[in-house]
Amino acid sequence: MEKSRVLRGMTARGGARVLAVDSLPAVRDLKELHGLSVLPCAVLGRLMSAAMAMAADLKVERGRVTLVLEGDGPAGRAVADAETRGLARGFISTRELPGWTRGPGKLDLSRAVGKGFLEVIKDLGLREPVRSRVELLSGEIAEDLAYYFAKSEQIPSACALGVRFSPEGEVLSSGGILVQVMPGASEEEISELERRMRALTSPSYSLERAGSLEAFAEEALGEIRWLGEVRFELSCRCSEEMARSIALSMPREEIAEHLRRGEEVEVVCSFCERAYRFDPARLLEEVERLEGEGGR
Ligand SMILES: [Zn+2]
Repeated sequence: MEKSRVLRGMTARGGARVLAVDSLPAVRDLKELHGLSVLPCAVLGRLMSAAMAMAADLKVERGRVTLVLEGDGPAGRAVADAETRGLARGFISTRELPGWTRGPGKLDLSRAVGKGFLEVIKDLGLREPVRSRVELLSGEIAEDLAYYFAKSEQIPSACALGVRFSPEGEVLSSGGILVQVMPGASEEEISELERRMRALTSPSYSLERAGSLEAFAEEALGEIRWLGEVRFELSCRCSEEMARSIALSMPREEIAEHLRRGEEVEVVCSFCERAYRFDPARLLEEVERLEGEGGR
């Protein structure tokens, strides 16, 4: 199976760290798995690229980055989750939206996402994951992510992300670049990187045209010293046990209603669409047992 890739590197002059992402295989699969139209797919795809880049950059062996985009626009909530060992998953609450644009070939993500927050949850294997939230600047995601790095991690950053579609709505390319300025970088290199990142107006088009992720990043930023790579595939860590605990947290009357109608209780995983089914009579027994133990 083809995998998505994140490359880690450093500009040849040493002034900035570079993360380059090609998330096409994952985003193509997410579009099909969740039945997404173009605009929700663009939102989730950009968020997925960002989550993969950040997970590939964690300094721990077993870590995870979850990005939650919570806007008041019609796209609803989007979640992208990536692990350092190369697993990723994601969903968006609205699957279909009109293909709003703001100029030729430019999807209007701001209109879909609206105002709200980007929450970044980093699980570094410590007792509690590290959470931080920033207000959305535009809902275009790349700019919002750069703002998160500046505000929450005090790292001057620039980010370009995109997903490109054929006229029929097929995903042609997906990915982007995240650049983080190192302490001690020269003013001259910083302003050149800024100029180059501003010029990268359609990263998904440049990525598709460049033919490889390495070539895309070097065309955009100049020579890069590559330091490592992480490959990602879609995978979900949901389980029967997790689904059961969700079913058990439903109101008792709701479970009883399923029993009366002779229907199983179904819990569907938002990330992988897997459906877990439970016998309502058994669930009610379990609810009673848990309540007897004071555990519900
Ligand atoms: Zn799942």
